[in-house]
Amino acid sequence: MPKDLLPEEIFQQAFALGYDDVGITTATIPEEDVEAYRRWILENHHGELGYMENDMRCHPEQLFPGAKTAIIFVSHYKQEKQNFDPQKGVIASYARGRDYHNVHRKRLKKIIHWMEERTGQINIARGFSDSAPIMERALAVQAGLGWFGKNTLLIHRKFGTFTLLSGLLTTLEIPGKVTKERMPRCGSCTRCLDACPTQALSPFKLDATKCLSYHLIESKKEIPKDIGEKNPGYIFGCDICQDVCPHNVRPPQSQAPDFSPSRGIGSILDLSQLEEIENHPEELFGTPLQRRGVQGLKHTMKKILEKDVMIPENEK
Ligand code: SF4
Ligand code: SF4
Repeated sequence: MPKDLLPEEIFQQAFALGYDDVGITTATIPEEDVEAYRRWILENHHGELGYMENDMRCHPEQLFPGAKTAIIFVSHYKQEKQNFDPQKGVIASYARGRDYHNVHRKRLKKIIHWMEERTGQINIARGFSDSAPIMERALAVQAGLGWFGKNTLLIHRKFGTFTLLSGLLTTLEIPGKVTKERMPRCGSCTRCLDACPTQALSPFKLDATKCLSYHLIESKKEIPKDIGEKNPGYIFGCDICQDVCPHNVRPPQSQAPDFSPSRGIGSILDLSQLEEIENHPEELFGTPLQRRGVQGLKHTMKKILEKDVMIPENEK
């Protein structure tokens, strides 16, 4: 006789593995999020990210047939703010330690294995961590974990926006599911919109083709001059629209060893360090920077050095 899973047991497993919060909701995407996503694609705000054009994102039941429940896990990764330096390139906070995809994949594997053992059933869940076409943020909001910010990120009720999501779809019915409606919580604040150096944000919408993170992580093309010259000194990613968010003032810094700069490449790099890494490329293994590779990072570093980067007044 299959045994039911209780939410408390799931929370216990998740916290023991290092997650900071968990939400349980129905495996459906709210219509409002479906419409916003489809509009975003039609407006071509995803640029070269062809993998974003997958309507399965709106249909969890297609990603994992029979899915009834979505469980969303939160890891918070807030790090010390790194000031800019004209001779160096800053690494976005999420990328300073281990690659969260790998960290989460291992945790999800353990949770699914536990679920199978606990219930005596197999093939009952499929995990994801930015690795499958599914709207993780919409599910997180629906699960009551937080709200959408105008910077398009999840504002977690306790940890703010410096959070990474992963989750799983399961065919199990789990009691205590939450189905919260989207509630805007930014009020009249527009700090992220005003601070974005490339005007990539409008309320609750990101034009990825203007975003530094997109150009410094995802895009394979040369960064357009009008975007590149507004880079205040990032070599990988960008944290500006999170650094200015008032919801990020109170949350504590992450103590998770996996996301600590000491477990990765650090917070800031200069050209000589990159040349050293070129001789020891294994230093990038298991970090998000591997995606760009040392040549890509050197290329961006040279661009930073070529232009006398504008360091914001408050950081001089
Ligand atoms: S990550 Fe940077 S460039 Fe992208 S929207 Fe936020 S502030 Fe703008
Ligand atoms: S900076 Fe202000 S507008 Fe932007 S997400 Fe935070 S609270 Fe919302």
